[in-house]
Amino acid sequence: MKKLIAGNWKMNGSLVANEALVSAMLSGMGSEEPVADLALCVPAPYLAQLQHLLKGAKLALGAQDVSAHEQGAYTGEVSAAMLQDFGCRYAIVGHSERRQYHGETDALVATKAQRALAAGITPIVCVGETLAEREEGHTEEVVKRQLAAVIHTVAHCTSEIVVAYEPVWAIGTGKTASPEQAQHVHSVLRTQLAAATEHPERVRILYGGSMNASNAASLLSQPDIDGGLIGGASLKAPDFLSIAAAAR
Ligand code: 13P
Repeated sequence: MKKLIAGNWKMNGSLVANEALVSAMLSGMGSEEPVADLALCVPAPYLAQLQHLLKGAKLALGAQDVSAHEQGAYTGEVSAAMLQDFGCRYAIVGHSERRQYHGETDALVATKAQRALAAGITPIVCVGETLAEREEGHTEEVVKRQLAAVIHTVAHCTSEIVVAYEPVWAIGTGKTASPEQAQHVHSVLRTQLAAATEHPERVRILYGGSMNASNAASLLSQPDIDGGLIGGASLKAPDFLSIAAAAR
């Protein structure tokens, strides 16, 4: 299976800046088939703009969150059906910034993953430990607990999710997990997936956390690292494209 390189723009962008960034990415990609599957997860207000800009491009559209509710009186929420209306192929769920700043629990994240799947959208389920949890030796326990909640809820659809291992201490800090550290956690997650689905190899496990043009190749060459979820470096076309090129 091809690797997946997904950009997470987080709360960045403007109509003008997005147009320039996407046009630089598309011209940098040229007409050749990309070596990896590529996606951009953008802020909800820009989904319509990106749907238009990415028409016919080999760059899929994604959202950064999805509501756990189907529809109705949920002010401010964006439903999976709405994301589908705008051509979203992916939706990030359970990003650590949402777990931390919006109190998202494992159960809520699992429901969000289920909503996305029901609308034909692939959830990119984020898991990862904080620095304190790593230092106390709880890394495996934390990521397994986070993934278990999703596996339990989506059950037979487990092979249709994407998992992203994002150690919280590596996000936006310039501190990357070493390829060996990341590979170890990815292999733990793969083993957990193997108990839940007949085809654990179909589930792409992305690494996220200060992945950039210089460290991408060594991370992506690890056997269980199937792609990247890229924050800061996805806001610069040359950096995002170098990472994508490293994903052979
Ligand atoms: P950075 O690449 O900026 O560290 O962000 C990673 C991330 O959180 C992607 O979802």
